Amino acid sequence: MRHRFIIVGAGIYGSATAWHLARQGADVLVLEAGEVAGGASGGPGKRGVRGNRRAATELPLMRLAYDLWPRLAEELDADTGYERVGSLNLFEEDQPGMRGGLAALRALAWRQDRLGVPTEALDERQVRELEPGVAPAVRGGLWSPLDGVADHTATTRALAAAARQAGAVVQEHTPVASLIRSGNRVTGVVTRSGETHEADEAVVLLNNSGAAALAATVDGAPLPFWRMVPQALTVRTTGTSPVRHLVGHHNRALSLKTLGPHELMVTGGWRGVWDERAGAGSTVESAIRGNLAEARAVYPDLADATLQTAEASRAETYSADDLPVIDVLPPTTNLLVGSGFSGHGFAIAPAVALLLARWLLTGDRPEPLTGLAYRRFTPVP
Ligand SMILES: Cc1cc2nc3c(=O)[nH]c(=O)nc-3n(C[C@H](O)[C@H](O)[C@H](O)COP(=O)(O)OP(=O)(O)OC[C@H]3O[C@@H](n4cnc5c(N)ncnc54)[C@H](O)[C@@H]3O)c2cc1C
Repeated sequence: MRHRFIIVGAGIYGSATAWHLARQGADVLVLEAGEVAGGASGGPGKRGVRGNRRAATELPLMRLAYDLWPRLAEELDADTGYERVGSLNLFEEDQPGMRGGLAALRALAWRQDRLGVPTEALDERQVRELEPGVAPAVRGGLWSPLDGVADHTATTRALAAAARQAGAVVQEHTPVASLIRSGNRVTGVVTRSGETHEADEAVVLLNNSGAAALAATVDGAPLPFWRMVPQALTVRTTGTSPVRHLVGHHNRALSLKTLGPHELMVTGGWRGVWDERAGAGSTVESAIRGNLAEARAVYPDLADATLQTAEASRAETYSADDLPVIDVLPPTTNLLVGSGFSGHGFAIAPAVALLLARWLLTGDRPEPLTGLAYRRFTPVP
């Protein structure tokens, strides 16, 4: 079978890019090894839609995403669970990146604000007005009112459904085993069951931790990536949850999201272990304890909150500089890769997918993606 574009992976990136391509009349096939939202774009709880403390390179993408998120549910005619609750990044101690206390905070807020993420530096009193439950050690915070949360599973499924409705073929349970290359062009893919699909214009690898291995089948340039399984906990509070906004922390591995009046999601960079043979991740007891201890140190009222679920099964790709690679992978001229989102790819996905589709349809790299090009790993002469 021939298609104009073949996308590998039906997480939020593959589904959203297919939707944009299909609604503009392009013929697109999406091949997914498991099920839609079966990877990092699925699972319990919600994901943060956050510009606060995001790397400067990604802030123009977040600026665009701020415009797209509020209207996505209407465009997809489905609930995305998006809520603009605002985010607060707390700090307690002078630390690299925040040395100088409130003065450092103001400088960070100024920079973020200028790059499209409205941000205010808050002192202790102002933080407590927003989050009365924080511990006395909290000395200030960065407040970004346009940040929020969304239901990642619902959003990804809605995007895949919209892509199908617009004419894309999204084929589940079809792992891609290798790519086919002729000269510097990638001309198709071969599935694990031996089926060949030809691509007239481009093959797009939006398959997260599977991207580097598939690129290697056509001698694509090496990608400085590794696989990780971030830990996600949900806890139940005895009284009303003390957490009112999306909360992050400068010097603790902690992120908190309210899921309901008595339910919270606790994450922040803790990880499980990946079993290569089983192809699955699992939690580690000490990491669960560590993550809960950080939450309780910042919100003492969480002392008697009880753990409801703990999981570390959703593999995510991390990159050497904590930024994704979104580029045509050398030496090919038509293998587009978007991977390495390093635990923060969900929020910017609507923006990146829109730009990826534009790139594929026009042949011109959109300016906001320039900083994520592969050439940043090219040796200095
Ligand atoms: C616990 C956790 C918390 C997170 N929190 C946040 C957050 O708060 N904010 C935020 O912005 N981001 C967050 N992220 C990161 C974000 O969820 C990811 O960056 C994003 O979902 C990646 O989407 P994707 O489409 O690239 O990958 P995925 O959703 O993993 O999709 C890739 C798909 O490719 C398929 N695939 C792989 N190999 C093949 C193959 N060979 N053939 C066919 N299909 C293949 C997989 O089955 C998978 O379905 C979090 C991630 C995790 C795991």
